[in-house]
Amino acid sequence: MPEYKAPLRDIKFVTEEVLDFHGHYAKLPGAEEATPDMVAAILEEGAKFAERVLSPLNRVGDQQGCQFKDGVVTTPEGFKEAYQQYVEGGWPSLSHPEEVGGQGLPDSLGMMVTEMIATSNWSWGMYPGLSHGAMNTIELHGTDEQKQTYLTKLVSGEWTGTMCLTEPHCGTDLGMLKTKAEPQDDGSYAITGTKIFISAGEHDMADNIVHIVLARLPDAPAGTKGISLFIVPKHNVDDAGEVADRNQVSCGSIEHKMGIHGNATCVMNFDGAKGFLIGEPNRGLNCMFTFMNAARLGTALQGLAHAEWALQNSVAYAKDRLQMRALSGPKAPEKAADPIIVHPDVRRMLLTQKAFAEGGRALIHYCSMLVDTMKRGTADEKAEADELMSLLTPIAKAFLTETGFEAANHGLQVFGGHGFIAEWGMEQNVRDCRISMLYEGTTGIQALDLLGRKVLMTQGATLRRFTKIIHKFCKEHKGDKRVKSYITALDKLNGEWGDVTMKIGMKAMRNKDEVGAASVDYLMFSGYVVLAYFWARMAVTAQNKLDEGTDEVGFYTAKLQTATFYYDRLLPRTRAHAEAMLSGADNLLAMEEDNFLFLNA
Ligand SMILES: Cc1cc2nc3c(=O)[nH]c(=O)nc-3n(C[C@H](O)[C@H](O)[C@H](O)COP(=O)(O)OP(=O)(O)OC[C@H]3O[C@@H](n4cnc5c(N)ncnc54)[C@H](O)[C@@H]3O)c2cc1C
Repeated sequence: MPEYKAPLRDIKFVTEEVLDFHGHYAKLPGAEEATPDMVAAILEEGAKFAERVLSPLNRVGDQQGCQFKDGVVTTPEGFKEAYQQYVEGGWPSLSHPEEVGGQGLPDSLGMMVTEMIATSNWSWGMYPGLSHGAMNTIELHGTDEQKQTYLTKLVSGEWTGTMCLTEPHCGTDLGMLKTKAEPQDDGSYAITGTKIFISAGEHDMADNIVHIVLARLPDAPAGTKGISLFIVPKHNVDDAGEVADRNQVSCGSIEHKMGIHGNATCVMNFDGAKGFLIGEPNRGLNCMFTFMNAARLGTALQGLAHAEWALQNSVAYAKDRLQMRALSGPKAPEKAADPIIVHPDVRRMLLTQKAFAEGGRALIHYCSMLVDTMKRGTADEKAEADELMSLLTPIAKAFLTETGFEAANHGLQVFGGHGFIAEWGMEQNVRDCRISMLYEGTTGIQALDLLGRKVLMTQGATLRRFTKIIHKFCKEHKGDKRVKSYITALDKLNGEWGDVTMKIGMKAMRNKDEVGAASVDYLMFSGYVVLAYFWARMAVTAQNKLDEGTDEVGFYTAKLQTATFYYDRLLPRTRAHAEAMLSGADNLLAMEEDNFLFLNA
């Protein structure tokens, strides 16, 4: 049976030993309560919840899925009770402001707990995950009254949230959306339209659902500049702030899909539903970016989650499964065959999962530190964190989900034919992971955002903000013979990142299609460099610990060995990405549309 154990040792390594979260919290305004003891206690409790309550429901969710009957969605057995426990444990309010009933702890601490929830049961975790995004949106853009009415209930966990963007004819291109918002005499709006693919759009886990909906005002300009944002509750709310009559919003059906069966993906019909404007008219997409950025980091986390889950289960299997002898002679002569973990190719698959999971963990928690600073830092600190996040969000979202999917596939492969059989859980992990590269902006769209909007449109300024950090790190450790091989390679690639950007920028001046043609290879190249930076940082920390003397020699040595594996076997993929991205748009655009297929003999 598949199992999940919270990787507390590795979370501690990344957040305390590499990223120095305690030093970060000591300086972060309002984070006084996040003392080392408090952090450790929260992580222990979060781990218990993930391991004991959520992990056993992961397979149940896949097998039973959500059921739909007459507009009502029933979640899989145990989901509702687990949510009740989550609310009673005070988890929803962890990192939200005290004024609205939150505990005011840093977002990064919430992210550590979310990592454990996400890995133990992604489908379940999406319900509170979407609420978290709705909370961030109302917190930043809502009026005091909206905060009082909706945010407090979301923070307490009594109600959950959704994000309603997609319509049947538009997913990526939200400028085409048609849902209408008609102003009413009482200051509210009547929202009419159909949204599809709405995660957690309807369920039985909470008393009310707060939909955050994109719609158009009657006089709105066409395209993305004419989109506004609305709160539309499933149930209207009375003057006392309690659930009242049903609003005119309903679930028309749920999707039958490849994975994440425990999460309801809903068609939502808005039939003149009462809605309330958030932020300024026609500025909805700007407000929604708050939601989307949080959601994108959440989806980046999904990549890490499936990689970690694959790693844990495939390592256990590889130690246990006996097949063939090692080429260099038996390693377990007393047994009928050697465990498959002795075979180099199995190790290649295990180490790839380990390198992506542990490297991804460093990137995710680094980003969540930036989120803390964006919310609580000085004006200068906020500006810097904001710029770094704008660069790292598309990289984290697309690179960690692409590599998470690769890791999930390797996890399955380690099991041989058994990986294809449901009872081992590895095929569910692959199926559940697949959506991460699609929603919250596909890999292609993240790549365009990175290269077009974030890098070229800022004339490389945003990129330089991060490459300078890498450069400084390399300079600091240049003379350190112990980690020379990593630093030399990283420094060279960091320089090359700037060079390839310039080359694509020059090509794009002649032909804009060069951006789209280079973008996914550019994003993957960037992702490998970013992870190389974190692996180098982890290697430095591990080497220092070993030199200081430690009784965890195995743990730190494995870090250095994984760093070496990453640099020797995964980082060379940058060569292929560099060559492909610079090969020009012609090899993609030359073919006539009619010549893609010739089916008749
Ligand atoms: C299970 C699930 C849950 C979801 N949850 C939600 C949710 O909670 N809320 C919500 O609003 N939506 C949700 N979605 C919708 C999801 O975000 C969209 O499916 C996604 O954004 C892609 O849109 P689309 O499906 O319309 O694909 P399209 O936009 O039609 O894209 C099709 C293909 O064309 C590519 N493409 C499009 N434009 C370009 C371009 N300019 N350059 C290069 N390539 C391009 C895309 O990358 C993609 O490969 C969910 C979807 C699923 C399947």
